[in-house]
Amino acid sequence: MEWENRQKELIKARLGGGFTPSQKKQIHKNNRDKYGGENRCEICKRPTIPPLQNKKNVRTPDNNMEADHIIPYSKGGRSDIDNSQSICRKCNRDKGDKMP
Ligand SMILES: [Zn+2]
Repeated sequence: MEWENRQKELIKARLGGGFTPSQKKQIHKNNRDKYGGENRCEICKRPTIPPLQNKKNVRTPDNNMEADHIIPYSKGGRSDIDNSQSICRKCNRDKGDKMP
């Protein structure tokens, strides 16, 4: 059964399963409340900026705020507020799907 569950998780991970827009809003709000009204990356503690609209030829900046799974989704972490943190794009990229 262990193996079967693992396969199910992998399939789920492949299908995606990120946070919903309203969860993201909540995640970034919780982060803002925690840092006294401004968003900061939970890992490097640098200020982050709200996600930009996807514009052509505009590179997403490294301090773009992103909702992240603390325990990676691909490792069975759920898309729950409890398993979320607001981090910058750079840390998200560096983190990949490593366990905390
Ligand atoms: Zn960071």
